[in-house]
Formats: sequence, C-alpha cells, structure tokens
Amino acid sequence: MWDLAFFITVLALFQVMSYYGQKTKRHRAYSNACIPPTVEETDIVFKGSDGITEEQIRKILVKRFPYYRSLQENLQQTFLKRLRSFMSEKTFIIKDDEGFKEMPVLVSAAAIQLTFGLSQYRLPFYKYIRIHPEEYFAEHAFFTVLAGNVQGNIITVAWNQFLKGYSDFADGSNVGLHEMSHALYIQKMVIEEGYAKDFCRNYNQLLDYSKLAYKTEIDGQKNLYSEYADSNLQEFWAESVELFFEKPAQLKQQYPEVFKAMKLLLNQDPEQTVNPVSEVNMPWQEKLKKLSGFVWMKLLNGPYQI
Ligand SMILES: [Zn+2]
Repeated sequence: MWDLAFFITVLALFQVMSYYGQKTKRHRAYSNACIPPTVEETDIVFKGSDGITEEQIRKILVKRFPYYRSLQENLQQTFLKRLRSFMSEKTFIIKDDEGFKEMPVLVSAAAIQLTFGLSQYRLPFYKYIRIHPEEYFAEHAFFTVLAGNVQGNIITVAWNQFLKGYSDFADGSNVGLHEMSHALYIQKMVIEEGYAKDFCRNYNQLLDYSKLAYKTEIDGQKNLYSEYADSNLQEFWAESVELFFEKPAQLKQQYPEVFKAMKLLLNQDPEQTVNPVSEVNMPWQEKLKKLSGFVWMKLLNGPYQI
C-alpha cells in the first residue's frame, strides 16, 4: 500500500509541476513579446510598495477608497494584504515631476476591488502600471486622447480621471475599474486560457447574456450603458464592471441575467458592501490539506486497499 501511496504522490507532484511549468512558459512567451515602457529621466519610478508603510496605505484607503471603508474588519485586513502583495510585483511609472503615494496605492486598490472574490488576484502578466497626471495621447493611434488604456503588459491611467471615478461612487463611471477589467480579461481569457477554467466558463456564460444586453442597448430599447460601451463587446464588458460596482441596483433591475452572471464570475455581490465576497476562497494550504485527506481516505477505504 505504501508503494502505491508513494507512486500516486510522485505522479501527482509531477502533474502539478508540469501544469505550473507550462503555465509559466506561456506567461514568459507573452511577456517576451511585449515592448517594455520607455522611462524618461523626469519620470518617477516606484518599485513595489517600497517606502510606503502599511499604516500609510491604510490611511490612504480609509480617506479615499469607499469600497475599503465599507468592508468589515477582517476583510479590510485581507484587502490590505492583497494590496501589498499586488504592489510588490509591479513597477509604477509616474509621468510627472511630482508623485504621490496615493497614486500606486489607489490604482492597485482598483485591481484588488475587482478581483476581491477571486483566489488569483495578482494579474501577474501586468508588470507595469503607468500614471499620467492628465489625459494623454495614445501611442498606437495618432491624435487620440485617452483617460486610460491597456497595452502589452502595461496598464495606464490618467490620474485626474482616476480620481474623478472614485469621487462619485454611484455614477457608473470609473476609469480605474474599467482598465483593470480589460487587464483581468486578458490575464484570464488569453494568457491563462485553458488554466483559469472556472473564470473562462463563467465569462463565456456572461458573454451570452451580454450579447443580448448589447443588442438591446444598440437598438436603443434601453439606455443604461454609455455610447462608448456600444463600440464592441470588450468595452461593454469593461462598462458592465463599472455599473456592477457603481450602479448595482440599476444593472440588476434592467439586466438581471447580466448582473447574476457578473456576481458568479467575480464571486462578489456589490450590494453587500460590508461583506461582498459571495464564497470564501480557500487558501491553497487548505486546498492541499483537503486534497491529501481525500487521497488518504481513498487509499485506506477505497478500492485501492490491498
Ligand atoms: Zn476600454
């Protein structure tokens, strides 16, 4: 029996290593294809959360981030932990001669808000977060002025527009959440396609309902979304996220299937502001414990008993 247990353990380990090996290889291939951002002498570069204490982060969130303020205490702790972990893997490039600690903290907080119900929240493909003080010209399209965009492995936002998004938390417009939604889509549906299986399945279900809602909006039968969301289904997704967090009651009332599918996908209910996470994610240590317990139970009681 012990030989069999050893064999199964080695096999399982091999499978896990091969799975993560393939996933890492894929990440690397996509990252290598990206052009790194140009950093000018006048830019301010923050690496991770260096120089920003946990207490400073907490104060910034309390002052400026309503989503965090509403959370119950233990979830605020989780939010802080996730935020620091997210920031530690990013390089922040501030295109200004004056930078504020609020910039990397709050832009990262938008990503944590969006992914708070998910177990994988770091968006590891995105190594760079670039912050312009105001709207900026697009690199890929002449004379196009942007409030935010996602290109290669860089997420860019205009700080004035970002702050505007969080100054009114119920107008359905939030450039931080909008850009993070594009990034989350690419991370899960493109880079991790075939790995983030639950997310991909739930996203495709949402897409079915979104297509119907999209048509209703384009036909002018309803008018919850902006004209920009009517550009294509990717913009419709990003705006659905903005509405989900900022106008949940309206989204639920006008497009109940979209709202329900978003809740499932993000594992959050934005109307439950104190405790928005629908199903508590199990840390990997507990998952492993549960899995090993299951293997041992099968070995001792199951058909493999010899
Ligand atoms: Zn967009």
